[in-house]
Amino acid sequence: VEETVARQALVAAGARLRSAGLIAGTEGNLSLRLDGGSLLITPSGRRKDELGPGDLVVVGLENQAAGGSEGNPSSDVAIHRRIYSARDDVSAIAHAHPPASLAMTLAGERPDPAVLPETAMLLPRLPFVALATPGSAELAQAVATSLAAGASGEELPVAVLLERHGAIAVGSSIDEAVDRLELVEVLCRAWWDARMLGWAPTPAPSKAGPQY
Ligand SMILES: [Zn+2]
Repeated sequence: VEETVARQALVAAGARLRSAGLIAGTEGNLSLRLDGGSLLITPSGRRKDELGPGDLVVVGLENQAAGGSEGNPSSDVAIHRRIYSARDDVSAIAHAHPPASLAMTLAGERPDPAVLPETAMLLPRLPFVALATPGSAELAQAVATSLAAGASGEELPVAVLLERHGAIAVGSSIDEAVDRLELVEVLCRAWWDARMLGWAPTPAPSKAGPQY
């Protein structure tokens, strides 16, 4: 994506995250793969619904030494870099801490997109990533591995749930990534509401909590 267009797209996507109730405070981050081997990412410590095009930060796709001219990129920049290097088809990434997604993993539930026709179609699978320190290389590696894993012929995941941390969605555009993040939250909310009304998934979720 060309940089001027990318800056406008990320500003608009930040407003979408807020209006959809997917972020609070300075939570969340967004990025786009730029032409020429770099990426544009939201800054750390700022509300994502109050950014201007000049607030976004260009960083290399590979790790670079601290103290360079990289500004103040999101503390989750390692996750973004790892995903782009693991998935050539991904051009955009959206991450947030949506409330129902947080509740699901706190409660040890593993919502299955196959239970609703729309999520079955649009979220082929929803992998689960165990708790790891935010910003760590370990978490970045686990997310990238889960997004790139699949049997041959199986569609790759377009979103993952992070234990006690929210969700990450990827796409060919930032709007597609935000759409998928919204869909993850819809699935988690519907799953939660149905569970409160007495529904139980079959087979029942493991009492031991997340396994894979
Ligand atoms: Zn986060």
